[in-house]
Amino acid sequence: MFTKILIANRGEIAVRIIRACNEMGIETVAIYAKGDEDALHVQLADQAICVGPAKATESYLNMTAILSAAISTGAQAIHPGFGFLSENAEFVGRCEECGIVFIGPKSETIEKMGDKAQARDTAMRAKVPVVPGSDGILTDLKEAKELAKRIQYPVLIKAVSGGGGKGMRIVEREIDLEAMIKAAQMEAQAAFGDETVYMEKFIVEPKHIEFQILADHHGHVVHLGERDCSVQRRNQKMIEEAPSVFLDDKLRARMGNDAVKLAKNVKYRNAGTIEFLVDKENNYYFIEMNTRIQVEHPVTEMITGIDLVKEQIRIAAGMELPFTQKNIQIRGHAIECRINAEDPEHDFRPSPGKISTLVLPGGNGIRIDSAVYQGYTVPPTYDSMIAKLIVYGQDREEALAKMRRALEEFIIFDIKNNIDFQYSIINHPSFILGNFDTSFIAKQMLAKTDRKEK
Ligand code: ADP
Ligand code: ADP
Ligand code: MG
Repeated sequence: MFTKILIANRGEIAVRIIRACNEMGIETVAIYAKGDEDALHVQLADQAICVGPAKATESYLNMTAILSAAISTGAQAIHPGFGFLSENAEFVGRCEECGIVFIGPKSETIEKMGDKAQARDTAMRAKVPVVPGSDGILTDLKEAKELAKRIQYPVLIKAVSGGGGKGMRIVEREIDLEAMIKAAQMEAQAAFGDETVYMEKFIVEPKHIEFQILADHHGHVVHLGERDCSVQRRNQKMIEEAPSVFLDDKLRARMGNDAVKLAKNVKYRNAGTIEFLVDKENNYYFIEMNTRIQVEHPVTEMITGIDLVKEQIRIAAGMELPFTQKNIQIRGHAIECRINAEDPEHDFRPSPGKISTLVLPGGNGIRIDSAVYQGYTVPPTYDSMIAKLIVYGQDREEALAKMRRALEEFIIFDIKNNIDFQYSIINHPSFILGNFDTSFIAKQMLAKTDRKEK
């Protein structure tokens, strides 16, 4: 087992990983950018190394500085968390060259699954259903028009390197196709430095259902059930829960088998997620694989009792999975609300600043993964997610009751945040009944807010 791990991230996920290392008796090295000296991950790690100025491209994405920090501190492995370098094949290659273990899959796997057009192709060849769409990237407008006609409008133009809901455009009619392709290309170039796009049929009002995978270096692959992440705003998840109210055992088994099949097909290693959309006729389609730990991993931990970050570290150290598919038992129900420093009244614009008062909820079945504390100043430089509130109940009803009262207890002053907005979702009759899909926030929540404002 490793004796020292460097965590190449910040915020709640860095803290989450440091905690797992602490419990495993592994020393930790934090990295930080100038301005992050007071961040919790810096305080909790055994060592902390400054890797550059606040701008992420010069610090949390600075491969040379991060690798130097690992080498000079004697860390044997790097945990990338999510975002930043977590799905960067070049970085993984450089870790491999330096003899440092990257806690994640091999660089060639990331290359194969990180490019979303190529991942579609891999899924098709593994006989896992994908959304009808282009074979590879879009290169020619005439071909794009023919394809859209064949699969029928509306279609979705998506960035090959996309993530975090960015680089997507819905096209309703042929007349808009050219302009929308251009718009998606420009957004993708700006966000990911790669303008290539592909086309999928736009699935109307689908559910987002994803399967958590664990795979070791000895050929064992299991799934840990699904997460329902249909509550989204602009294709970004806001609430996640497990299990999904909407899957029956038969569909769950079919989708879980396909997820495992696809992971085996690419010789996947470590933790990963296979994302699917499910339409109104219960057809499911692979959309992408995330080759890293995900924001919403705690809901799976709550219902399986398995610590995913510890398993990632054990797998990276070459250990065998301590369980088989049969041993994995799903028990109870878990829900996560992402708490963001943003202003729902002004189009969810980021709202950084000093937290003068912080009261965290607690009690039986409440878990908070966060990196903020009273007196901390949330910088404007990074992601606006400042905490994850996760609850566990014996069933969905109890989990909902716990989430309701936990959100009531949760106080953050003076920065704007989405606690009240999350509360109104949790209390929405459609959400309570399980009648929701990816259009829920736009159609049922924001439509309502607009009425209130008028
Ligand atoms: P998850 O499925 O884990 O919720 P998200 O898409 O919400 O994944 O991404 C998790 C984090 O990683 C977010 O902070 C998001 O902004 C960031 N992220 C995801 N993909 C990319 C990418 N391609 N480039 C930069 N950041 C990304
Ligand atoms: P990202 O890398 O940004 O997470 P995904 O491909 O996972 O991109 O898609 C994010 C979200 O966008 C999905 O959860 C879904 O809500 C929506 N989406 C993506 N593809 C489609 C599609 N073909 N039809 C309808 N919605 C889609
Ligand atoms: Mg996704």
